[in-house]
Amino acid sequence: MNALASYAVSEAVSRGRTHEEPHPGIRSEFQRDRDRIVHCTAFRRLEYKTQVFVNHEGDLFRTRLTHTIEVAQISRGIARTLGLNEDLTEAIALAHDLGHTAFGHAGQDALNQCMKGHGGFEHNLQSLRIVDELEERYAAFNGLNLTYETREGILKHCSPVNAQKLGMLGERFLLGRQPSLEAQLANLADEIAYNNHDIDDGLRSGLITLDQLNEVDLFREQREQVARDWPGLEGRRQVHEIIRRMINLMVRDLIEQTRTNIVRSGVRMHQDVSRVPPLVGYSDALKPHLVVLKRFLHQNLYRHYQVLRMTNKAQHIIADLFDAFMTEPRLLPPRFQQRAQSDKARAIADYIAGMTDRYAIREHRRLFAVGEVSL
Ligand code: MG
Repeated sequence: MNALASYAVSEAVSRGRTHEEPHPGIRSEFQRDRDRIVHCTAFRRLEYKTQVFVNHEGDLFRTRLTHTIEVAQISRGIARTLGLNEDLTEAIALAHDLGHTAFGHAGQDALNQCMKGHGGFEHNLQSLRIVDELEERYAAFNGLNLTYETREGILKHCSPVNAQKLGMLGERFLLGRQPSLEAQLANLADEIAYNNHDIDDGLRSGLITLDQLNEVDLFREQREQVARDWPGLEGRRQVHEIIRRMINLMVRDLIEQTRTNIVRSGVRMHQDVSRVPPLVGYSDALKPHLVVLKRFLHQNLYRHYQVLRMTNKAQHIIADLFDAFMTEPRLLPPRFQQRAQSDKARAIADYIAGMTDRYAIREHRRLFAVGEVSL
């Protein structure tokens, strides 16, 4: 563990856990959070959930799990350099996508559509719901009973209506305050990870090409640099040499700019961080380039017709499952039937949100395929 800067969150200043527990002893409180996240069921499910490509489309594409590990790696590296709390930012990063449905954003949009009129569905809030309520592992409480700081970091955004229901945790959304630097960092590390690995996966899938990517300055410049460093290099090695330079460039820019922002803001202690605008960020020189990169990925990868075909199918699967369970909640597994007695739609959303890609496809087949006999 690195020496903590005065503006980092230390466990000594933690606001603690909802259910009081003795100190974990040899581990820090935030290490215990991390360990609980890694051991929970929702974490294991990340392995079989889509990032962009559906889990069975290829063995080498990122899944939510490998994405999550990359986010944790980038977060920790930057935290160490900036003197932030590595354990806390790692715990936040490992939990940040727990609430994602199967089939990536298509799944979340479909479930949100189904939940219109029942409070909606938001993967970010669902991550919090999993660690606060849905995991059933401990004798004394529901959920993982994580520290306030890890929970605060998991909740990246929140509507004012939902914020009001969340007590102290929701307050910052109503007051326009910022979370810890560790939380801000995990959030941007998420972006660094997917902006880069989606290029890699996009190229690997053949849905985008190197030549198309030349319209993205950030990519083209690194491609030219690789050509100077390694003339004639081609194929996977060339792609990786470009992408590692891009990650490095973004990470270094973020570290430099964040340092400058912290000095300029005059922030000294961790509690000052909430009252100033976000401090973890990129330079003004880099920001427009990231906009171009994101736009490229949207137009050429996320909206590629082959991706949209899968997205469309995924939305039907989620909507069909939701309708079937709403009409006949006795089709739900017993645990969720019980939950459905107090809030049917929410219990169904919890069940569907927990499904992996292949589980959702199988469940759909079990409920709808004529001639399907397996239960
Ligand atoms: Mg993510």
